[in-house]
Amino acid sequence: MINITDQNGIAVLAVNNPPVNTINAAVRAALFKALDQIGTPKALVLLCEGSTFFSGADIGEFSGPPQEVEYRRLFNAIENLPFPVVAAMHGTVMGGGLEIALASHYRVAAPGTRFGLPEVTLGIIPGAGGTQRMPRLIGVEKTLELVLGARPVDAARAIELGFLDQIVEGDLRAAAVAFASAKRAPRRTGELQATPASEEAVARFTAQARKQYRNQPAPLTAIKAIVAAATMPLAQGLEYETELANAAKATTESKALVHVFFAEREARRIPGIGPEVQARVVKSAAIVGAGTMGGGIAICFANAGIPVTVLDASREGLDRGLAAIEKTYASMVQRGRLAAADRAKRLALINGVLDYDSLKNADVVIEAVFEDPRLKKEIFARLDAMAKPGAILATNTSSLKLADIATALKDPSRLVGIHFFNPVPQLQLVEVVSGANTDPELAKKAAAFVRHIDKLPLPVKDSPGFLVNRVLGPYMQNAFRMLDEGVKPETVDAAMEEFGMPMGPAELADTVGLDICLAAGKALARPLPGRRAGDPGSRAEQDVPQVLANQVALGHLGRKTGRGIYRYENGRAVKGRPDAYERALIEALIEPYLAEAKAVLAEGIVADADLIDAGLIFGTGFAPFRGGPLHHLDSTPK
Ligand code: NAD
Repeated sequence: MINITDQNGIAVLAVNNPPVNTINAAVRAALFKALDQIGTPKALVLLCEGSTFFSGADIGEFSGPPQEVEYRRLFNAIENLPFPVVAAMHGTVMGGGLEIALASHYRVAAPGTRFGLPEVTLGIIPGAGGTQRMPRLIGVEKTLELVLGARPVDAARAIELGFLDQIVEGDLRAAAVAFASAKRAPRRTGELQATPASEEAVARFTAQARKQYRNQPAPLTAIKAIVAAATMPLAQGLEYETELANAAKATTESKALVHVFFAEREARRIPGIGPEVQARVVKSAAIVGAGTMGGGIAICFANAGIPVTVLDASREGLDRGLAAIEKTYASMVQRGRLAAADRAKRLALINGVLDYDSLKNADVVIEAVFEDPRLKKEIFARLDAMAKPGAILATNTSSLKLADIATALKDPSRLVGIHFFNPVPQLQLVEVVSGANTDPELAKKAAAFVRHIDKLPLPVKDSPGFLVNRVLGPYMQNAFRMLDEGVKPETVDAAMEEFGMPMGPAELADTVGLDICLAAGKALARPLPGRRAGDPGSRAEQDVPQVLANQVALGHLGRKTGRGIYRYENGRAVKGRPDAYERALIEALIEPYLAEAKAVLAEGIVADADLIDAGLIFGTGFAPFRGGPLHHLDSTPK
């Protein structure tokens, strides 16, 4: 795991703990041992083999006893070495990985290296010296920016901030040894004085943390620790940091965020499909229907470098679709999200057609036409006859039964559901739906493809609303019922935002489109016994909320028409003040959501509770610091 070599009197300590060199218990033990054996070289270079320098602490250890004291001992031992210590970094250097580098005396990195202290996103604080050593290198204010931003920075920015000494080109080991041999003495971070921040700056960061991380204590705790770096000597500051770090780790929020970290990791793993299959799945793609969804999906494919043919029924429909795609890219360039040259490259990958013959080489065909079962069946009968053998044939339907559409195919096992969400380029989650006849290998291939285009695939069984719409349905219906009873939309939204939703149900409905909410509500409402959905007097008919029906009848469809539940000015909802409300309102609003998530688990529509939690966090923005609805139910006292 650790290899020590001598290069002209400089010791090179190389760690190899694949896949990403996490600093787990074994690495810590090996490092302690190596420090004992190292003797007194002229200098020490610390580096890692493989894809990255230390990528961070072992998050799996979080549920066990606290390890901060051991980290502190180890990093202090490195800092106190009597000869210069150079951390030579590459890859993604996060959390504990960056903290070990801060305890080293000098830091160099290969071009392309990224650095971050993202602990607050896990409900904790940098607990291995980060809050005390970083301010000694770059000052309290810049440390607050880095820690609260919680995003990785590149090597150029690291130099600018002041915690990286040099970007070294060429062979990292050789360059680091050359750098180390020019250093005569240690330069201990702990002996530097941290530049304090002004009171005004601390107040500004505190306000930002309250807003950005509503309901979450960790960012505020991090501020406390970082500010203290300018007022205490290192040893005392480290003790204080440990105390705060352990308290943060014990909070419900941190436990929930760590749960989400693992749930997401589970969701990204597709059993039985390795990366080699994933890369081979799709060389070219096709989409039938160039509307809202078809266009968004085309953009996603082009962004992933996959050539995509888009077919629509008419020249007019196609031109409208292609124009919308161009507009999206133009606005990305305008907002500085995309280079103009990349826009041209991506647009060149998208080819509009009117004939099915052009689809015959596609490895995946996604149907995204109107939500009409007859139309979809007609299209799949055609695709079944001409698509290449082994191609993934997928529908993006939100509410139709896969097994029904599959009757149009000679071989119904060829059909899978790949359900994207609107707006497709922004939303990570994609439900991969297996119908009663879907070939399980095809479903896996579809999931691997979804992962390949950088989305989060969630395998679900064919059932009304799958996971996301199934859970959102009763939640939205219930919120609308309250609006019908006279509760202000502002109040309903404020209550759910306080709970931790990124947006309340009224604004969400406006964003999705009230017409779409109305149609989805009708399609997904379960009919009363003996009646069919849509029959007069069926539950669907009875349950259409008045506010929703009225707005749709007036053509007020939400954000897209500038008017819905709210009025929109420059794309922002114009809201009045919410009324005062009690905690009971929050509970009443979220209750149907939680109940439906439980029902999905009981019915086995998604394989396990962790996947449901991950799916609903990514699919509906459910507060991550509550760990997802099922984790939240488990951790809330009854
Ligand atoms: P849309 O009305 O924006 O687009 C449908 C497109 O299909 C239009 O461009 C139309 O010209 C084209 N079309 C119609 N008949 C065709 C045919 N015979 N051959 C080829 N093209 C044809 O609809 P949308 O919102 O993009 O929805 C498409 C599908 O995606 C639906 O099944 C819908 O349920 C599903 N979906 C929609 C959303 C959403 O929020 N809009 C989200 C998830 C899934």
